[in-house]
Amino acid sequence: MIDRSAGLDRAHALAREWLDSLAERPVPPRLDSDGVAARLVRELPDGPTDTAAVVDELAAACDPGLTAMPGGRFFGFVIGGTHPAALAVDWLVSAWDQNTGLRVVTPAHSAVEDLTEAWLLDLLGLPAASAVGFVTGGTMANFTCLAAARDEVLRRAGWDVANQGLLGSPGVRVLVGAERHDTIDLALRYLGLGAPEAVAADEQGRIEAAALAAALEAGDGRPTIVCLQAGNVHSGAFDPFEETIAAAHDAGAWVHIDGAFGLFAAASPGRRHLTAGYEAADSWATDAHKTLNVPYDCGLAIVRDRAALRAAMGMHGDYLIFDAAGEPMDKVPEISRRGRAFPVWAVLRALGRDGVAALVDGYCAHARAFADGIAAIDGAEVLNDVVFTQVCAAFGDDDATRAVVDAMLADGTAWTTGSRWRGRAVLRVSVTNWSTTTADVEAALDALGRAAAR
Ligand SMILES: *Cc1c(COP(=O)(O)O)cnc(C)c1O
Repeated sequence: MIDRSAGLDRAHALAREWLDSLAERPVPPRLDSDGVAARLVRELPDGPTDTAAVVDELAAACDPGLTAMPGGRFFGFVIGGTHPAALAVDWLVSAWDQNTGLRVVTPAHSAVEDLTEAWLLDLLGLPAASAVGFVTGGTMANFTCLAAARDEVLRRAGWDVANQGLLGSPGVRVLVGAERHDTIDLALRYLGLGAPEAVAADEQGRIEAAALAAALEAGDGRPTIVCLQAGNVHSGAFDPFEETIAAAHDAGAWVHIDGAFGLFAAASPGRRHLTAGYEAADSWATDAHKTLNVPYDCGLAIVRDRAALRAAMGMHGDYLIFDAAGEPMDKVPEISRRGRAFPVWAVLRALGRDGVAALVDGYCAHARAFADGIAAIDGAEVLNDVVFTQVCAAFGDDDATRAVVDAMLADGTAWTTGSRWRGRAVLRVSVTNWSTTTADVEAALDALGRAAAR
């Protein structure tokens, strides 16, 4: 008999040790992947090893190779933390091990998924009848929404992708902002749509409404998809939704919005203006593992036309046969999948409407403090209007900025990311973790001051 408890008890103790270490440990890992590999048993063992020993061995080997991503001083990329309620429930998800594709097999998850879908649409101010597919992340959320978009715009042109494929079809024209996230291009590639047409963006990275209108005007008759953005990874800026969506709809286009981290601005009364008019779009992609702080991996593919999503993703989803309840697997690319709605429900249940708003507002306040602190550093310059959670800064010329990025990594107090934006080397700060405190921001600013002074 294999003892289940010993391994779980060790995992519990080790998880708590890890979480407790976050406040003090340096953010970057101490070892690279070769270094960690050297700590692992190389040969595939012939025989069994006790579960608790396996857990201990892995944790001991990996600890120096772990990055303090869930900690309050990780400001790189756009990386969410993990809310305690979501983490606790995520453990149950693994223990319960439900394959949540079908309603009758896992009624518990289906009930929670339906409820969470309704809560999310309410919280985000999106049409209440929309479908929410629980996918692995923003990339797959973009893919899932754009699959529904592709099939629907071609269907309206009299072409059935499911039966006829893409060869010989009228084709699809895809218009995107010059500063869309690269995963839009990736999703379009997966979908056989090729590279999109880029429309000019302004100095904050927002698509220019006039340029989009002109591009739509110059249409060649092909069915069209327009991809907008809620939250630019460098500036945090939001596209002007009202005018762009109206123009796109006038031209008969499907409008998709990539709001991987920005969609939750709509959950805060103080930030909601950034998303004004976005509810008129046809689909919205977001991550639960970023702003909402559930563990990886969880993204949300939201589509206004449930039937279109089901036609694209369902195994038996004839477009005209529409059962209001539907199957969870009809909204996502996977058949088998874990109970992804459980941790999303948990964080919404734990925070409530006001708590989610406070979470978002807290990120924004910290980002504001970062911008003010950076502006006060000699030679530093904040490059974006800080409207949300992102701060983009330069510390002189490109070499000087890169040196600050490197010095920050070497220092280890906080993690920030180097990038290029609008032709310049930049240092980027993203605040996306519930546990970040004012003291964390101050410590990171002190480190930035030290790095810049070198
Ligand atoms: C992170 C991000 C994505 C991709 O999301 P993943 O969860 O990493 O797949 C897409 N768009 C934007 C704007 C993002 O910030």
